[in-house]
Amino acid sequence: MKIKSMTAWQPGFKNAPGDWRMSLGQILVEVETTDGTVGVGVGGGGKAGIHVIDTVLSECVLVGEYETPNGFHKAMCDHTSFYGRKGIVPMAISGVDLAIWDAYAKTMNKSVYELLTDLPAPAVLPMYQTVFDDEEAAQAIESGKKAVKLHVERFGDRPEPCVIGDLVRATRKRLGADKAIMLDAFGRWDVETTLRIADEISDASVDWIEEPVRPDQLDEYAYLSANSSIPIAGGEHEYLAEGFDTLANAKAVNVFQPDINWCGGLTSLIEIYNIAKRAGIRVVPHRGGEPYSLPAIAALDRNSPLAESARSWFTCLDGMPVVQQSGVTLNDGPGFGVAIKPSYR
Ligand SMILES: [Mg+2]
Repeated sequence: MKIKSMTAWQPGFKNAPGDWRMSLGQILVEVETTDGTVGVGVGGGGKAGIHVIDTVLSECVLVGEYETPNGFHKAMCDHTSFYGRKGIVPMAISGVDLAIWDAYAKTMNKSVYELLTDLPAPAVLPMYQTVFDDEEAAQAIESGKKAVKLHVERFGDRPEPCVIGDLVRATRKRLGADKAIMLDAFGRWDVETTLRIADEISDASVDWIEEPVRPDQLDEYAYLSANSSIPIAGGEHEYLAEGFDTLANAKAVNVFQPDINWCGGLTSLIEIYNIAKRAGIRVVPHRGGEPYSLPAIAALDRNSPLAESARSWFTCLDGMPVVQQSGVTLNDGPGFGVAIKPSYR
């Protein structure tokens, strides 16, 4: 497989969050193989990510010839290892890797799912939705979501446990006993706050507390995972298999949440699933209901697949997976089954 051209650009979105998720956010990557097959990927890093692609990644992607996408991925990681093991470089690599996987599957006239397993695809996959209060939680469950995640960043760095407790208990009361509830602190808390809150909600059957502290506080994560009564989730802001291997070795989290459009693409996500399997860690990819993670969730997690709902403002692709009352439907390809809408070119 050889790539003859590669283009990256940053589309604009209406109603996107006005923070780094846009300024350093979503870039589209299109590759064309020498046999004329076009692949589409989504990565991150904004203009900085595009610069990484146009300069250092193109130096290896447009020169190398490999049988599978893994060869390109290794070449990109090796080429950038002095300065790019976390953050913007893996975000850019993700877009290129996904575009190459898309083209690779298309050359075989298969969906990416079919490349990952011989098992028949599930009809639908369960979804969860991020919500802000019990009212939104009830609406999400009514619309068919199997679980909800309460985003609690707005309560600040050291919320009183009873404030979070009241929200969780109100949500549990509305949803009943059998719907999963999770919490996302977006890295705002410290160890003491997290343990006090975990104690406060220990009877409410909360499936995980997500990113209780900043992503690089590995010792704190390990301490919390060993001492919290509620499982700890993280990895939304971690990169490449090496980063997740470090998390696993430190016993830092009980749930991995890799973002396929940031963490290094599908090649990295497959490795992350393998690391998780060895370590007994659950994998619930960040924004897993978008088209790039869904094939991996369906193929590589047959026990407890769960897809996070897609972001409403992410509107540049045709072929977004269809969400129904019963769950989200996998695209049947070829590739990831997506195309760039003409107005985003
Ligand atoms: Mg999160």
